[in-house]
Amino acid sequence: MIEVYDPGNGELIGSVPSASREDVERVLATASAAVDIARNMPAHLRISVLHNVAEQLLQRHEEFARVIAREGVKTIREARKEVTRCVETLRISAEEARRLSGETIAFDQMPGAENRFGYFKRLPVGVVVAITPYNDPLNLVAHKIGPAIAAGNAVILKPHSSTPLSAKNLIELFDATELPAGVLQLITGAGAIIGDQLVSDPRVRMVSFTGGPLVGHKILAQAGLKKIGMELGSNCPCIIMDDADMDLAVESTVRGAFWAAGQNCLHVQRLFIQEDSFEKFRDRFVELTKRIKVGDKLDETTDMGPMISDAATLKVSEFVQDALDSGARILTGGECEGRYYQPTVLDNVAADCRISKEEIFGPVVALYAFENIQEAIDRANDVDYGLQAGVFTRDLATAFTIADGLNCGGVMINDSSDFRIDAMPFGGTRGSGVGKEGVVHAIHEMTELKTYCFNL
Ligand code: NAD
Repeated sequence: MIEVYDPGNGELIGSVPSASREDVERVLATASAAVDIARNMPAHLRISVLHNVAEQLLQRHEEFARVIAREGVKTIREARKEVTRCVETLRISAEEARRLSGETIAFDQMPGAENRFGYFKRLPVGVVVAITPYNDPLNLVAHKIGPAIAAGNAVILKPHSSTPLSAKNLIELFDATELPAGVLQLITGAGAIIGDQLVSDPRVRMVSFTGGPLVGHKILAQAGLKKIGMELGSNCPCIIMDDADMDLAVESTVRGAFWAAGQNCLHVQRLFIQEDSFEKFRDRFVELTKRIKVGDKLDETTDMGPMISDAATLKVSEFVQDALDSGARILTGGECEGRYYQPTVLDNVAADCRISKEEIFGPVVALYAFENIQEAIDRANDVDYGLQAGVFTRDLATAFTIADGLNCGGVMINDSSDFRIDAMPFGGTRGSGVGKEGVVHAIHEMTELKTYCFNL
């Protein structure tokens, strides 16, 4: 068994099986046998299963929120928002199951192809392996299994070993519906032990992965010829222009920097502030950051919880030390007690230190001053990631120029990089990944187009 601990206080809160290679083989064989059953599920069944689970989840909202807040890093208030979003993700999946469609094709556009009638439609890929991270242990699971079921796939879910309980409880809700046996299976175990077997098996037609770049690259090397979805990390920038609404910019970026203690792929990590506003913005940002209450995740007044593990805490400390060694200054924070790392703001940060280039995945933000728009765009783009960015300005032309210039999957104007709704296309450029999620887009990734042509 794998024991699951509350990362905040070390209490044992549950356990899940640690799968063996034989277990993986059994799950793969079951999924493979369920491919036709899944494909043949009528749309009304897919819709009712997904709505049914969304409804059950809504009824048990608080119970699910408490599990997220215990096994993961979120406070109870953050966890409740995740459950609400998960209900939404499942409802959108149900609605999209209704809309799976194709298009007719004008075959007569090519001389010699007259008198044909044809169309394409979307068919499920078959077996989808979904691998999820620890930071959104419920909603990121729904972002894979919702679209997979809506599309008619058989799906195997492997959640993170630190946070498997939310996923297990969600699968139990599906098990209580009329979803045919074998269409959705959970396997729990260390990725390093069972990962290779799951992703390299030729019966698996798609690996849908959300996690860090190291594991992502390992999976890419092992998966072989199959579809791949890679939702990887980032070090998201936000750009604050002199003409921005400063109250809005400060409040949004503080929230985006410290949500889930910075353990969020959309975490505001690099803040570029136009030079005339730098000091004013910095002082207000630090003032608001100092008000963040760190502590017990289940306390209603707590704003920020712990890091997931000692290793993750150490990584944050190392990034901060690396920045200090290159001349950075700590404006607030920089200390930790156990896994509780204080919300930390740095300035004077060198362009080539780790926090300027890599993903910290913790509650630390770096402030940089810039002179003009082109400089802000160039510096924001000067990394190997490109997930999302935020821009704060009151000028429409500036907003368009920056939004067009940033190399990433999404630009939020007058919101921080952290803004997302579950129905929008979501996924990064460059080192942030391949493919898109955001229910209908995940459905597109999890289906193949098939063309039919009738010679009349
Ligand atoms: P991780 O890469 O350590 O783990 C992710 C999953 O991969 C876990 O389920 C893990 O058990 C599994 N895994 C580990 N080794 C494996 C292997 N060899 N084969 C197959 N699976 C294996 O990531 P994490 O620490 O849980 O999450 C943090 C990372 O996820 C950050 O980089 C963050 O930015 C990223 N993330 C991205 C998004 C997005 O949508 N782009 C969302 C959330 C998190």
